[in-house]
Amino acid sequence: MDKLNWGLIGGGKGSQIGPAHRIGAAIDGLFTLQAGALDIDAARGRDFAIGLGIAPERAYGDWQAMLANERGRLDLVTVATPNATHYPITKAFLEAGINVLCEKPMTVTVEQAEDIAATAARTGTICAVNYGYSGYALVRHMRAMVARGDLGRVRLIKAEFAHGFHADAADADNPRSRWRYNPAQAGISAVFADCGIHALHMASFIAGQQALELSADFVACLPGRLLEDDAMVNLRLDGGAVVRLWTSAVAIGRMHGLNIQVFGETGGLRWAQEWPNQLFWTPLGETTRILERGGPGLSPEADRASRVTMGHAEGMPLAFANIYADLAEVIAARKQGRTPDPLALHYPTAQDGLRSIAAIRAAVESAQSRGAWVDARPPSLRS
Ligand code: NAD
Repeated sequence: MDKLNWGLIGGGKGSQIGPAHRIGAAIDGLFTLQAGALDIDAARGRDFAIGLGIAPERAYGDWQAMLANERGRLDLVTVATPNATHYPITKAFLEAGINVLCEKPMTVTVEQAEDIAATAARTGTICAVNYGYSGYALVRHMRAMVARGDLGRVRLIKAEFAHGFHADAADADNPRSRWRYNPAQAGISAVFADCGIHALHMASFIAGQQALELSADFVACLPGRLLEDDAMVNLRLDGGAVVRLWTSAVAIGRMHGLNIQVFGETGGLRWAQEWPNQLFWTPLGETTRILERGGPGLSPEADRASRVTMGHAEGMPLAFANIYADLAEVIAARKQGRTPDPLALHYPTAQDGLRSIAAIRAAVESAQSRGAWVDARPPSLRS
């Protein structure tokens, strides 16, 4: 198959998430970076794009110019800009018939998210959302274990995403963190929309269940912050599982603490993003065993998502690579008029993005009502 043509918006020089997308999209040789509007500063963005090998005439100063010139030329565009820009950019590219991988949160309002999901359905385009940690091989294995019944019914999930990088009051004006607490750029939630939502997506992804209702407590620990930097959220999922979720940006000493524990009737699982190559599995009444990524006896889902041999570190950009590999397979199958590999259908979609935005809005509403239980479903998915 010819390489697919890829465009990137945001992810400019010094950005946090740009490098993981460039590595993830490139690692399997499935995409070529052909066009980009990489930076809010037009000149800096063009320079950086040309340095990455993009042709000067396809290194754009803004996404509108890119859209005007790239219709029909790109198979996939990644949107890796600050949150409030996701909606207009994603909407415009979907309307132009271009598939999109949008960073999370997909939009800042439920209404926008409903519109994106409807636009993707109407235009027949793929809209994926980058819950990239669901691409880890052992996360996919956890999902497979739950689906085949190894744990019995899932009773409880404890999910965390805590870091301490926004804890320094003296650094609160750092441009990389400042926008995350500005409602005009971040939306109605900071750390829950930024980090907690990964933990919620992962809980839903592994359990195969969606959020029904929730109760939340939000706090802004640093004075002057308009949005929360710590949150505790309790959820009930539609298959009966209970989720206890903690997320924080002020947990000094925590690094990238996306940790999950899944407790079923007949066993428990434990996995941590900072040690992604080991999964702890405890069948009821038996001793804990460690499952190694790349090792024998894992599911086809895990085997497909693993590239480096067992014992060598494999991390986050390769988890993103699994989202890109899924998208490449589905896009190529459409172009070739064939059925895609069913193992490639695990990427997060606009429906997942929509469910997340509804959960964010419900959590904000609950936190404003001293933890009242609130329906966490988007209006279009309440029947
Ligand atoms: P950042 O501030 O580090 O970088 C943002 C980049 O976008 C910068 O290069 C900036 O110049 C550029 N930009 C801003 N507005 C633009 C515009 N209108 N057009 C083109 N480029 C523009 O932010 P970040 O941490 O990289 O976050 C970007 C997005 O990625 C956010 O939505 C964030 O939530 C998401 N993110 C996701 C993950 C994940 O694990 N999936 C991790 C980190 C960030």
